[in-house]
Amino acid sequence: MRKAIVFLGPPGAGKGTHAKEISNILNIPHISTGDIFRDAVKNQTEIGKKVKEYLDSGKLVPDELVWAVVEERLNKEDCKNGFILDGFPRTIPQAEMLEEFLRKNNTVIKVIYLDAPDELVVERLSSRRICKNCGAIYNIISMPPKEDNKCDVCGGELYQRSDDQPEVIKKRLDTYYQETKSLIDFYNSKSLMYTISVKKEREEIVEEILKVVKNGTEE
Ligand code: AMP
Repeated sequence: MRKAIVFLGPPGAGKGTHAKEISNILNIPHISTGDIFRDAVKNQTEIGKKVKEYLDSGKLVPDELVWAVVEERLNKEDCKNGFILDGFPRTIPQAEMLEEFLRKNNTVIKVIYLDAPDELVVERLSSRRICKNCGAIYNIISMPPKEDNKCDVCGGELYQRSDDQPEVIKKRLDTYYQETKSLIDFYNSKSLMYTISVKKEREEIVEEILKVVKNGTEE
């Protein structure tokens, strides 16, 4: 049966990094609502104009608008063998809209909760850098590129996300605690969630994620 893999956790827990890795290994698309919105803002599309102020201030984009974007994406051909969601859902209404979609489309869900303490995520977000060209994620302290400011994968220039500044980081964490953390109970109560502590080596985390995802594949 088709499988949806959802990465849950605070900003900076490593959702994007691990989602990218798992997407490459399993050969299913990695769908990041944050990336979709950042692209829309950069390209000044209609959606980009609507979401810019939310991204700039670390607030959540309204549910209906987020769902319209996600639903359109999930209906694309490349999602037919499964997909990975990173940064969605972020509210209970979003989780319910997803649930309804998965039910109608015969898709099972596995939720991976990346558990990371506040001190760690603040430190990680402030030192995160991203390749302008291919989106590869670095950390200038724990995972620096081989050459300063240059992507190891494609040689592109690295940049810092405008919302990875101290004031916006604080707001994003507040938003996470107010609106997103309740999803942990939502999925836990349905026995759909697997918690993985991020305080270990990257390879170990990937291995654990793969174990969870592959478990029950034959069903
Ligand atoms: P991220 O890259 O996941 O940290 O998302 C960056 C920003 O995009 C967030 O701070 C929100 O403003 C917006 N965003 C991304 N995903 C969602 C979502 N599922 N619901 C509401 N807003 C979102």
